[in-house]
Amino acid sequence: MATLINGKEISATIRNEIKAETEDFVKKTGVRPGLAVIIVGEDPASQVYVRNKKRACDEVGFYSESYELPAETTQEELNALVDKLNKNDKIHGILCQLPLPKHLNENEVIMRINPAKDVDAFHPQNVGNIMIGDYSFLPCTPAGVMALLERSGIEVNGKKCVVVGRSNIVGKPQAMLLLHANGTVTICHSRTKNLAEECRAADILVVAIGKADFITGDMVKDGAVVIDVGMNRRADGKLTGDVDFASVEPKASYITPVPGGVGPMTITMLMQNTLTSAKNSVK
Ligand code: NDP
Repeated sequence: MATLINGKEISATIRNEIKAETEDFVKKTGVRPGLAVIIVGEDPASQVYVRNKKRACDEVGFYSESYELPAETTQEELNALVDKLNKNDKIHGILCQLPLPKHLNENEVIMRINPAKDVDAFHPQNVGNIMIGDYSFLPCTPAGVMALLERSGIEVNGKKCVVVGRSNIVGKPQAMLLLHANGTVTICHSRTKNLAEECRAADILVVAIGKADFITGDMVKDGAVVIDVGMNRRADGKLTGDVDFASVEPKASYITPVPGGVGPMTITMLMQNTLTSAKNSVK
């Protein structure tokens, strides 16, 4: 039986730490960390994320602004809002909820956000810093995974780590963070030959592919640590991961559940980045 890594609990502990640090920072500097969240259109899933981010800001004592723009917003209007927020001293983090409606250019928005306020760490300057290993903004979901490992007492140093998925927001930065922690890292993707064999070699297996219950027990080594980043909605509306929990859990030493594993950590890391940005602004 695997030990469950409780992301909800670990996330709550870190948020309490951020809250205490924020109180202290506000007392010392008079500056309250501020986050602006932009959402364009009416995607219900995105609306839930935005509400959760606002709630998290309230919880840790941040100032927050949300901009809910209509689906027909033009690129010029969106750019103008980003420019305004870049100049606003009360705002230390700007986040534009993706995906954007098809007529808008996501890359243009990412490039326009001041890298010093890019708390999602999507700007190429911040991506480059993560690659070099000298960075202040954490890539939120991968950093959440690293915090789960660290707070569960799981050593990465010298371990064989396999990341399944190579997206810019999860797989690639995840591989970098594991590498910086001295793991020996393999990245797998849809063209990988013998995926099961690659996965079976992993001491630490991180899965981020977006396919429900894809990784099964026969693809996992006995005693492996299994981190499931996937969030998939089943036909019955229930949330499920990329890992088939029923067959993998008996083989793993540690495993994250879905929901309640990696999910709660992402927003917590966003709060951490916003606090870091506020601190950088008074340096
Ligand atoms: P993307 O769709 O951007 O990337 C998926 C990756 O998985 C690609 O690199 C793709 O390979 C790879 N892949 C797809 N099918 C297979 C396969 N059969 N075998 C091996 N590799 C495969 O997804 P994201 O990285 O954005 O997200 C991944 C999952 O994580 C999703 O379920 C998403 O909802 C979840 N997520 C959860 C977050 C959280 O807060 N918990 C935050 C962000 C994402 P290729 O490059 O070759 O196409």
